[in-house]
Amino acid sequence: MSSELTNQDHCYIGRFAPSPTGPLHFGSLIAAVASFLDAKANNGLWLMRMEDLDPLREPKGAAEKILDQLINLGLEWDGELLYQSTRLEDYDKTLQQLAKKELCYECDCSRSAIKSMGSIYNGQCRNRISKPCSDYAIRLRTENGIIEFNDLVQGNYRQNLEVEIGDFVIVRKDKLFAYQLAVVADDALQNITHIIRGNDLIDSTPRQIYLQQLLNYKTPIYGHIPIIVNAQGQKLSKQHFATPIDTKHGPKLIHQAMKFLGLSPPATIRQATVKEQLAWGIAVWDIQAVPKLANIPESSLTAE
Ligand SMILES: [Zn+2]
Repeated sequence: MSSELTNQDHCYIGRFAPSPTGPLHFGSLIAAVASFLDAKANNGLWLMRMEDLDPLREPKGAAEKILDQLINLGLEWDGELLYQSTRLEDYDKTLQQLAKKELCYECDCSRSAIKSMGSIYNGQCRNRISKPCSDYAIRLRTENGIIEFNDLVQGNYRQNLEVEIGDFVIVRKDKLFAYQLAVVADDALQNITHIIRGNDLIDSTPRQIYLQQLLNYKTPIYGHIPIIVNAQGQKLSKQHFATPIDTKHGPKLIHQAMKFLGLSPPATIRQATVKEQLAWGIAVWDIQAVPKLANIPESSLTAE
């Protein structure tokens, strides 16, 4: 891992940002490999961020396990590892910046009240006068207008935040900073220029772009790669019992990941080391070749 980090000198700075809720599974490996190959094929930096903001969901040792897995798979990051748990002061400053613009408000609406609004928050606490009597979240006002971007994989994506999402939470009822606020503050801090991640996050992207605009941050380039779903159509994740990957099978895993991402690694490199395979992947990487949708059933990925 190179120690010098002169972000400003690089035209491409990518990142991988796992939450340490458990070891990597094949779905998170795909995101790691895609962001790594895209960064390295563009002579960029590939930074690492541990999104450890929710201690109750993070088993002890999970972050270390993920880092071990990445190293064993030849996915070595550049520069210092950033832990979100060390960033609370900065998130608070970001929150104050938004509050100063009178864009934030307290909301103690219950989950069932929001459900009865059709699950899109209707902004009913925007102009409340009374103080909330129970635990409250802090929401950000949205605007009735289109936010749109060109995704490197999925193409044009547009969303009207107020209509499709509603005023969204930036500090949760349990007082933890919400993902949307933290990720935008961190991408700005790390000077991230390119974000390659799973397509389950594409509908968060307009919220992040909106926050970047409010905070005068540059908007990175986005590419959302397909996610793997199980037979029930659920995202492959720890909640759905996705099997953690076993890095004993590193070369095979990297081979499968590259195939999933639209590359055609020859059978002859199947036995090569993870680093040799990744070097092959960097040389031929083409983000335009990544399919928009997952087309490999989970069973064929986990079968030995
Ligand atoms: Zn409310």
